[in-house]
Order: sequence, then structure tokens, then C-alpha cells
Amino acid sequence: MKAHDFEYQEALTEGVKVKWLSSIVSVGEGEVVIEQMELDESGFPQPTGRMETLTADTVILALGEQADTSFLRSLPKIALRDDGSIAVDEHFMTGEPGIFAGGDATPGERSVTVAAGHGKAAARSIDRWLNDTTTAARAKHPVVTYDMLRLPMYSDVQQQNERATALDDRLSGFKETVIGFTENEARYEAQRCLSCGNCFECDQCVAACPEQAVVKLGPGLRFRYDYAACTGCAVCFEACPCSAIEMVAEPKATA
Ligand SMILES: Cc1cc2nc3c(=O)[nH]c(=O)nc-3n(C[C@H](O)[C@H](O)[C@H](O)COP(=O)(O)OP(=O)(O)OC[C@H]3O[C@@H](n4cnc5c(N)ncnc54)[C@H](O)[C@@H]3O)c2cc1C
Ligand code: SF4
Ligand code: SF4
Repeated sequence: MKAHDFEYQEALTEGVKVKWLSSIVSVGEGEVVIEQMELDESGFPQPTGRMETLTADTVILALGEQADTSFLRSLPKIALRDDGSIAVDEHFMTGEPGIFAGGDATPGERSVTVAAGHGKAAARSIDRWLNDTTTAARAKHPVVTYDMLRLPMYSDVQQQNERATALDDRLSGFKETVIGFTENEARYEAQRCLSCGNCFECDQCVAACPEQAVVKLGPGLRFRYDYAACTGCAVCFEACPCSAIEMVAEPKATA
């Protein structure tokens, strides 16, 4: 299976023995038979017929997890795909109005980031559905690419190493092996975020505007533009490190 190099190193540190290119042929009473594989010219493992028997009291298969959605089969409006995943529309709603799904239970890439994103998007959809089923989804910001960032404006925060549980503790239980950050450490680490396209209230635009046309609305509430005072000079746009500001043409006056 694929793994990051650091995960492989952690496994070795914990005394895990890795048997490369081995495929389980059978699992019996107290033993596992594996077959040695060889990579073919295209890099795919092929069987060799060379077998090896390993003693084992427990076999843990840690691949190919999928959500158990069988309990939904009795709900005819909720469509399940062949792999058991739940079909949803672009608002994460199933065929049953008012029932939403996301994350591993739905088709697509299965990762924490994707699941968290589905949760956020689905929460918005649920809110819209509960309040006004006809409201359209909020338009997305244009994608901000690396060349649109003003990098010198950011602080140069170095990546920190997370603390790991002592080896003895790792081997004697199921505690988290990587302990994570304290709140202060996490906040420091988060300063490396470039916040591409999303205002993080750095106030550069407020300081830069020669007309005081950028009005602060308070922490978390961002800003209002006083268009009566704004001359369209684009200084705020130039000052914004993360390209959160767009310059758009004024609508043409109608006769
Ligand atoms: C071994 C392994 C390693 C992984 N490593 C990574 C990684 O390094 N990075 C990464 O991004 N992703 C990783 N993933 C994938 C990641 O864990 C999942 O994509 C993510 O947790 C999905 O989140 P979720 O909220 O959709 O589902 P889950 O986190 O599975 O949450 C579903 C919850 O629903 C509960 N539940 C299930 N059925 C019912 C029911 N009938 N009634 C009530 N509750 C129920 C479950 O108990 C569970 O708490 C890994 C997965 C595995 C298995
Ligand atoms: S365009 Fe110029 S005047 Fe208008 S808000 Fe930005 S900096 Fe201020
Ligand atoms: S719009 Fe840009 S410059 Fe203004 S506060 Fe937000 S991130 Fe900073």
C-alpha cells in the first residue's frame, strides 16, 4: 500500500517488519500463506508461485474501508451506488428531500479534507433548505493562483514538528502517537496559511486607502466600501496580499 515516507519510518521505529511485494494467499489456523510478487515492466506486481508461511495469531486487514450504508436500503428515495455510497446532488441532498450526506459515505475522494469540506458545504445547503428552498448556492470566489499573492507581506513562519508519544507508550496502547499542537502553537503554525483569495483582516487595504473608503466593521465582520468616497484608484487592490479584492468596472449609467 502507499504510505508517506515519514509513516514508513514511524512504523520501522515501532518495530514493524515490512515484507515487500507479498500477497496473502490464505489465512489458516495460526498461520498466513503469502506469495512473493515481482514487479513487471509496467510496475505492476505479478505472482511468482513462491510461497512462504508466516505464523500469526491475528490478521488485521487495513485496506479498502467503505461506509456501511445498508441501513438506508429501506428508504426508496435514497439511491445507493453499487459500492454502497449514497448518491447526492450538488447540494449534498439525497433523493429524500431534507436528508443530506457527505464524506466517505458519498462517491468521491475519501480524505479528511474532503469530508470537512462536504460538511461545510452541506451545512450551508441544509440552512438554505430549512429557510428557503429556492435560494441559489452562493457564488464561489474566482480561484487565486500563486502569482496573484504578494508574498513579501506574509510573515515567514517556520514549520514546527509535532510532539510524538514515547515509543514505550506507543507500543503499549492505543494512545495518539502524534500529540498535535497546543492552541498557541496551532495559531502560530496557521500563520503560514496564505489565505488565498480570502480576506484575513490584515488591514493593509485600510491603511493604504487614501480616501478612507475602506470601513472596518469589527473583528470577523470584515469591511464595507464607501463607494461615494472611493475614486477607484486600486491602491487597496494592489495592497491586498491574498487578492481578496477584485476591481470591477462601474455599471454604465442608464439614460
Ligand atoms: C486506516 C485509515 C487511514 C486513513 N488516513 C488518512 C489520512 O492520512 N489522511 C486523510 O485525509 N484521510 C485518511 N483516511 C480517510 C479518512 O479517515 C476519512 O476520509 C474521513 O474520516 C471520512 O470522514 P467522515 O466524517 O465522512 O466519516 P467517518 O470519519 O468514518 O465518520 C462516520 C461516523 O459515523 C458513525 N456511524 C456509522 N454508521 C452509523 C450509524 N448507522 N448510526 C450512527 N453513526 C454511525 C461512525 O461511527 C463514525 O463516527 C484514512 C482512513 C483509514 C481507514
Ligand atoms: S480603490 Fe482606492 S479609493 Fe477606492 S477603496 Fe481602494 S484604495 Fe480606497
Ligand atoms: S481585503 Fe486584503 S488587504 Fe484588506 S484586510 Fe482583507 S486581506 Fe487584508
